[in-house]
Amino acid sequence: MVLDSSINSDIGGIESIRYSAYQPGIYYIRVSSGSASFTSTEPYRLTIHITDTSGAPGFSSPHLALGNPSNAASVIDSTRNYLMEKSQYALSYNSAAGRPNWVSWHLNSSWLGEIPRQDDFRVDVSLPDAWYRVNENDFSGSGYDRGHSCPSGDRTVTRTDNSETFLMSNMIAQAPDNNQGPWADLENYCRDLVIEGKELFVISGGYGANGIVAAGHVSVPARTWKVIVVMNHPGISNISTATRLIGIDMPNVNGIRNDDWKNYRVSVDQIEAATGYDFLSNVSVSIQAVIESAVDNQ
Ligand code: MN
Ligand code: MN
Repeated sequence: MVLDSSINSDIGGIESIRYSAYQPGIYYIRVSSGSASFTSTEPYRLTIHITDTSGAPGFSSPHLALGNPSNAASVIDSTRNYLMEKSQYALSYNSAAGRPNWVSWHLNSSWLGEIPRQDDFRVDVSLPDAWYRVNENDFSGSGYDRGHSCPSGDRTVTRTDNSETFLMSNMIAQAPDNNQGPWADLENYCRDLVIEGKELFVISGGYGANGIVAAGHVSVPARTWKVIVVMNHPGISNISTATRLIGIDMPNVNGIRNDDWKNYRVSVDQIEAATGYDFLSNVSVSIQAVIESAVDNQ
């Protein structure tokens, strides 16, 4: 389902709409612009256009099989929530923050091979050319790592796959002790699960602000988060109330290098509250309610 873009332009930027019925009707909406927002007390009459989106950008990506957490759209007006789909992962880009809001990817054994790190950090030229494009030197001297969202180590079957993880649109400014400490351990743990035969969906991002780098072009997130769905069998129809879901919320600071990533587990509900996103929106609400409220303890 997509919202006709004319709705967005008429109202001046609908950031999120939660709809419980996929049909024309009267909906209460939350509208926000910059830091201000309000929830209407009067109904707005909206016509919801229903489009067959099979094969359409944003809905065909295997990396978005569980949903599009922020309803990102691949239209240039969506400057803070711009959907980018690549063969290797999908993301929502925030041009005001100079970084992704979230990056989502599927991970199973078909993505793991022998290709070494390509280390070809570079501009993502597929970003709209009206926007500032973060380059490979922008974090130099900032004290922050160029931290992959979709890890290099998760895309090692072809050189192209690995190289695509080095696009700066996949990077956040990440404190070295976070990136190279518990964050890296968690990435390795995910690959260990895959080697054991699991099928994963991972969504990764940062929230909050802890300064800026790159001459003001890149906002440093205060926290880094991850949502990891661990499945025994492929196919979202196999997600049930028994499915393991791991939520992680970690400070983007130094001094945590030797911490256990397990100390940073939270419920996915907590990450949804902190970010405003809805994860697993393609999974039934009743299943989401159970697995998103629990904190992983395995
Ligand atoms: Mn990293
Ligand atoms: Mn959810």
